[in-house]
Amino acid sequence: MSATAVLQQRNLVGGELLDAVDGATREILNPATGEVIARVPEGSAADVERAVAAARAARIPWRDATPGRRQELLLALADTIDRHGEELAALESLNVGKPHALAAEELPICADELRFFAGAARTMNGPAAGEYGAGYTSMVRREPLGIVGQIAPWNYPLMMAIWKIAPALAGGNTVVLKPSELTPISTLRFAELVADILPPGVLNVVTGDGPGVGEAIVRHPEIALVSLTGSVQTGKSIARAAADTLKRVHLELGGKAPVIVFEDADPKAVAAGLRVASFLNSGQDCTAASRVLAAPGIYEALLEELVPAVASLNVGDPAAGAQIEMGPVISARQQQRVLGFLDRATSAGAQLLTGGSAGHDRGFFVEPTVVAGVGQQSEIVQSEVFGPVVTVQRLRDASEAFALANDVPYGLAASVWTRDTGTAMEAIRQLDFGCVWINDHLPFLSEMPHGGFKESGYGKDLSVYALEDYTRVKHAMIKLE
Ligand code: NAD
Repeated sequence: MSATAVLQQRNLVGGELLDAVDGATREILNPATGEVIARVPEGSAADVERAVAAARAARIPWRDATPGRRQELLLALADTIDRHGEELAALESLNVGKPHALAAEELPICADELRFFAGAARTMNGPAAGEYGAGYTSMVRREPLGIVGQIAPWNYPLMMAIWKIAPALAGGNTVVLKPSELTPISTLRFAELVADILPPGVLNVVTGDGPGVGEAIVRHPEIALVSLTGSVQTGKSIARAAADTLKRVHLELGGKAPVIVFEDADPKAVAAGLRVASFLNSGQDCTAASRVLAAPGIYEALLEELVPAVASLNVGDPAAGAQIEMGPVISARQQQRVLGFLDRATSAGAQLLTGGSAGHDRGFFVEPTVVAGVGQQSEIVQSEVFGPVVTVQRLRDASEAFALANDVPYGLAASVWTRDTGTAMEAIRQLDFGCVWINDHLPFLSEMPHGGFKESGYGKDLSVYALEDYTRVKHAMIKLE
């Protein structure tokens, strides 16, 4: 898209495509070039108010729609994604700066998630119905919560939106969704495509930033649950603010995934795995393989494989063609943040084995970077960088692997590379992370829960556990005559 073809987009509220109440707009940039690619509404509390009113009007009919009806409509959303996959992938690649092939892979996953929750909508049942007290019949019902507020991040914009709206709608809730102010265009286009499929007000999409729209969602007394995928800092601030209205909070926050490499692992396979898992989406992935803990007997062999594998990544503007394997990071701010981590680490004695600078004159690039010589308590090991950077630590001996892996504030995901079943089983038991992979890193499934422990948050995305999170349980007790 040239600089002149700027997309003009609108919010979806009550089934209509609308500008912001006060007419404000925001320019959206292509991070590979810095050029303006779209102009979208810049919402405020008034837009949230209007969206909540629409969600309120739609709430009871949507609650009362049969699960079978909700399934039909969710399947229609999935079909829409299939039909418009090419267009949505192109928008995602342009706005996030991700290679087209990666964006294209995300669309079938989005459709699959919608289809999973379409089916799951029909499986909800209460676990009890019977006589638990003499003379009484009890039953347990699962009900929607009501209006749900959802706040998405910039790294996988449409996929994170789908992770949120699919279980919420399947559970019978109406939704007010805020995409990231940096990457709203695929979600706005999706909203436009499904405007005529869903009853008006069931799904409302309002763009804007955290203070303007996000906080208004969190503070709104009629919103029963707020769900965030974002940073730990934002998660804490939302949890604090949500306390005022005692709304439920569902938090998918940052990560700092360890990769434990035992001596019996294949260094080539680990390096090939990290080439993807540390650098996919420019490392802007909450489960990115960001810190390697290598047993002493494999440390050297691993670096011999890893450093050239990382240096061989083809970095550039995804628009240049299918050969591009990694694009920029999302913004100039994020680029400076990542380079700041590297500056401070090298000042403290860390070594850059490859990468370490921007490497491009325009766009918000950071070279794929491998850092060694870092201590467990160093900032770059303890804090999420959210960029194309992996640290490699040499264990004194394998027995300290689990303790060091757990010794960060985060608890989202971890991987362990070993051929020994006993070691793998012990790792699964010891690691304080919501997902543990053995001999792989990154894959996820619609059927399996995704969500963290510790400061990575609480609540689950995907799976029937997400459906539980978006519903409430009611006990009905009937006195028998
Ligand atoms: P962010 O916290 O800066 O923003 C996330 C969203 O919150 C945005 O829509 C933003 O506008 C909004 N927001 C910001 N301040 C707010 C406030 N005070 N009240 C309400 N809303 C507010 O995060 P980001 O930079 O967009 O995304 C990157 C982060 O997301 C990383 O930490 C990453 O690990 C995390 N993430 C987690 C998962 C997961 O599943 N656990 C998945 C993807 C990304």
